[in-house]
Amino acid sequence: MDVASLDARTDAPVGAADEHSAGVDDRSLVDWRDVVRVVLVALLAIAVWFRVWEPLADVSLLGLAGTIGGGWPIFHEAWTNIVERRMTMELSMTIALVAALVVGEFFTALVITTFVLGAEILEHLTVGRGRRAIRDLLDLLPRTVTVRQGNGTLRVAVGLVKVGDAVLVSPGERIPVDGVVQAGESYVDQSAITGESVPAAKTAGSTVYAGTINQSGALEIVAQRLGRDTSFGKIIDAVERAEKSQAPVQRVADRYAGYLVYFAVACAAVTFAVTRDVRSTISVIIVTGACGIAAGTPLAILGAIGRAARAGAIVKGGRHLEALWQVDIVALDKTGTVTVGAPTVASLHPAEGISLRVLLESAAIAERRSEHPLARAIVQSADRTGIPSVEPTAFAYEPGRGILARSGLDEILVGSRAFAREHDIEAGSFGSVPRGTTEVVVVRDGLFLGTIWIADIVRSDAREAIGRLRAAGLRTVLLTGDASTVAEAVAEDLAVDDVHAEMLPEQKTEFVRGLRRAGQSVAMVGDGINDAPALVEATVGVAMGSGTDVARESADIVLLGNDLSTFADVMQLARRTRNVIRFNFAGTIAVDAVGVALAAMGFLNPLVAAFIHVASELTFILNSARLLPAARPR
Ligand code: ADP
Ligand code: MG
Repeated sequence: MDVASLDARTDAPVGAADEHSAGVDDRSLVDWRDVVRVVLVALLAIAVWFRVWEPLADVSLLGLAGTIGGGWPIFHEAWTNIVERRMTMELSMTIALVAALVVGEFFTALVITTFVLGAEILEHLTVGRGRRAIRDLLDLLPRTVTVRQGNGTLRVAVGLVKVGDAVLVSPGERIPVDGVVQAGESYVDQSAITGESVPAAKTAGSTVYAGTINQSGALEIVAQRLGRDTSFGKIIDAVERAEKSQAPVQRVADRYAGYLVYFAVACAAVTFAVTRDVRSTISVIIVTGACGIAAGTPLAILGAIGRAARAGAIVKGGRHLEALWQVDIVALDKTGTVTVGAPTVASLHPAEGISLRVLLESAAIAERRSEHPLARAIVQSADRTGIPSVEPTAFAYEPGRGILARSGLDEILVGSRAFAREHDIEAGSFGSVPRGTTEVVVVRDGLFLGTIWIADIVRSDAREAIGRLRAAGLRTVLLTGDASTVAEAVAEDLAVDDVHAEMLPEQKTEFVRGLRRAGQSVAMVGDGINDAPALVEATVGVAMGSGTDVARESADIVLLGNDLSTFADVMQLARRTRNVIRFNFAGTIAVDAVGVALAAMGFLNPLVAAFIHVASELTFILNSARLLPAARPR
């Protein structure tokens, strides 16, 4: 064990999550003192069975010493629980052990102590494995990096790198910092951050992210953000917070576990009153287990959060997972969520007497500062046409409507037809817009310059994901700020249940609020600034990985990529978690009820009762453990 953990410590690449190095986890997984304790108690049980040393006639000194010494952690925990006025398993076990000692059942007491201590070790192992599975995911950053120093290079610990340092990354290495490429060309696998499996080309000026893998060429990167400040570090923070926050179902689980203990003690009292049989009474207490609920529930949630992270979705807390399994309706934003969100200018339609160049140039000035996918399409098109980049002197974005900007003395408006109408401009028409194409109106100084048609493609994964959500019995609704013709075409392509077009951000929020007032649980999936209020309003807000920072901050679940099927996966995982937890609840209660009945009627001796308790408990804990992600091959 010790050798193995040492090995793990030297091999494990540890980065931003230094304090959670694999070595520390390995050590805390099993405490050798616990193992020694179990073995000693088991040996004493054998000694008592063979009556090895019995100086006193009525009292087995070995049995007494072994039960008190070996069971000390149980008694200690029980005492703490009494002080805190909580009813726990340790308390009922203590009652049973004391009763066994009082009636002279020393062998029984020792065997029960062995069982309980052994079960506790196994439970720690399983939960520890869950924690480690999450940390595995986090221990991805390299520990040492090469930095340029003068004319030479120097290998230093990652903690010593400073913002502005030039970091060299060889092919095959993980990039240790967020930064900008200064020299070199390469492809980078960014799946750890964006979930996108296709490697991205990087040249001088490209942004690279910590935790991604440099593939083909050597890169020199100027460090901009380090450790916890990197995008990767933020993911780590989110997962760690998620691990600490409690889901409501966990409180329910604790309460039920408490009830079970009361139930056991009450049944034992009745049994003793009726039968006057101490062995049956002890058996009643011992057979009742509650850990399948009390420990099985948090383990299931921990496992699911770890598995979701591995699949490319950061769930910001257990309660969001629980909220997700209750969802009845999924509302989806259009642009950037169900469409690729990398639209391109399909055609330009200048008004009478206006040149193509003036139309595009004016639009580009207004869009230069916007992060909206439509804006990117226009700016890109202008850049490609060789139009010089001009910054607007003033800029105002009206989410869901468009942009008002100023260039010198001219006021430029770019946005939807409705937005232009609000400013008393009636935009001319250039025929019917083709399927999947958004029309943007451009106005300069009160003069209608024309329209720009921008095409975006519906994501193929979106169609499949929506099919899966509907098959799972969820209602799907498309919410968009775009015109209804576009919205309807997309809705038809995706086969969603319902579509609402020309929605302003506050209307999206109002729509979600309306559903919630009607008692429904809503998941809202979006990417833009215009979606953020609705993400907050929804029961569960889900942001796309490529989304704006605002959207990702507002969301409860962040997809690392843009693949909507990841969302369908997480939905499925949440429901599976619910089923596991429900199974454990029902199973624990059933086993306890049957066990108590049998014990009360004298069919179980304390040893068989202890065996049933431990075996059923481990079954339920292992049932939860099935949710843990598979260990990452090192
Ligand atoms: P969605 O809800 O589909 O994500 P938005 O709410 O972001 O769409 O935008 C709705 C409409 O508002 C767009 O179809 C467009 O007409 C207009 N609009 C929004 N932002 C911009 C922008 N930056 N430039 C031009 N038009 C915009
Ligand atoms: Mg959007």
